Amino acid sequence: MTALRDRIAALIASQGPISIAEYMTLVLPAYYATRDPLGAKGDFITSPEVSQMFGELIGLWLAQAWHDQGKPARPLLVEMGPGRGTLMADALRAMKLMPELRDAVEVVLVETSLVLRKVQEGTLRESSVPVRWADSFEDVPRNRPLLLVANEFFDALPIRQYVKTDRGWCERMVMLDARGELGFGIAPVAIGAGLVPRDGAPLGAVYETSPPGDALAEEIGFRIAHDGGAALVIDYGYGADAGFAETLQAVKSHSFTDVLIDPSASDLSAHVDFAALASAARRGGASVAGPASQGDFLDGLGIRHRADALANVRGADPEKIYRQVARLIDDDQMGTLFKVISILPPNAPKPPGL
Ligand code: SAH
Repeated sequence: MTALRDRIAALIASQGPISIAEYMTLVLPAYYATRDPLGAKGDFITSPEVSQMFGELIGLWLAQAWHDQGKPARPLLVEMGPGRGTLMADALRAMKLMPELRDAVEVVLVETSLVLRKVQEGTLRESSVPVRWADSFEDVPRNRPLLLVANEFFDALPIRQYVKTDRGWCERMVMLDARGELGFGIAPVAIGAGLVPRDGAPLGAVYETSPPGDALAEEIGFRIAHDGGAALVIDYGYGADAGFAETLQAVKSHSFTDVLIDPSASDLSAHVDFAALASAARRGGASVAGPASQGDFLDGLGIRHRADALANVRGADPEKIYRQVARLIDDDQMGTLFKVISILPPNAPKPPGL
């Protein structure tokens, strides 16, 4: 029993069941605010923490997009949920290949966790680029071209779940059971027909949607359509066909755990619906390329050549470098489950890798 669990139980006792989105909204900030969740000693590991090659290739992709759009003035390099700042540090190092960009760019890190802001500040201290922090995308300065990356950010945004019953689609809620424990249940009243955009679901099917994720993708699409630039969204999730599965998960110390048992002690996340993000970005006025699998994307950007180059450096550990490549691109590792889309101004040239 934790203080947060008790607060949530008291809230439900007084106001009734809460949606999964409300539950995640209460729990996630408490989780991220108190720890660095990344790496071997933390709860999970992400691509930038696997290898420097990941952030380098993303840096070069963003530089290429900037170049292809005629090098627009005063670019902002924005990262949503930068974790330890590793991706940004690797991207900035790779951007030294395009000094005009590297000298012009200002970095904005959208990060709510004060613990992680400290870590990011330390990681980027050497980079000699101006860095500022923002609480949300809303606070990112307007009227400037954006070069934006979000890796494993959208999976951490709240989702809602609806279950197909003989009464129609009913929202899955967090409630209290007879013993006063947190449990899942289904709202008695169905939502309006037509709110679930997919047909043909069998009874028991689960439809997941992330209203904040869709709203953010639309806003990014709007800003990029108006101000120029490019965004890369990388995450684990569905490509074209989202299906009807329940994907909310809790991870602690690299293992799955119960979503409700100890709120804020584990990382909650859910599969990202890339088709939904793409339509939201298009609603905002942007064009979208992808989704591609992370494996195809990184392969297309030349990760194997980069690995060969690193492996040939004196004192390198080639076996380790090729193991890292496999981790990032192999089908049975992060290569297929993880997907990539880019959000671009309408009529932008086709980006590499997508
Ligand atoms: N992109 C990093 C970290 C992924 S973990 C990497 O790939 O290693 C998710 C990150 O998003 C953390 O930095 C977390 O603090 C941040 N975060 C989660 N929810 C957020 C929100 N609503 N607003 C801003 N940052 C958030």
